[in-house]
Amino acid sequence: MRHPASQPMKITLTLAHYPADMLWIECNKCGRSGRLNKARLIAEHGADIPLPDLRHALAACSKRGQMHDPCEAVFPDLVLHGPAK
Ligand SMILES: [Zn+2]
Repeated sequence: MRHPASQPMKITLTLAHYPADMLWIECNKCGRSGRLNKARLIAEHGADIPLPDLRHALAACSKRGQMHDPCEAVFPDLVLHGPAK
């Protein structure tokens, strides 16, 4: 029942790596999407916060105590513009 490693991330992207001034976050599970000001997020969370941690902090539907059913929010811009390797 083991899943193959589908996300071979060797580096951790942080907020500072985000390629745009506005972060676009989208969640297929709760159907929400939105844009967030990068400078404001840096002021609130620090530029070194890993994007996975930030994603967790921002995930709308994970704040409802659904720890068994976590939010699936993603940053679509990173899929389009992130490093290919
Ligand atoms: Zn969600």
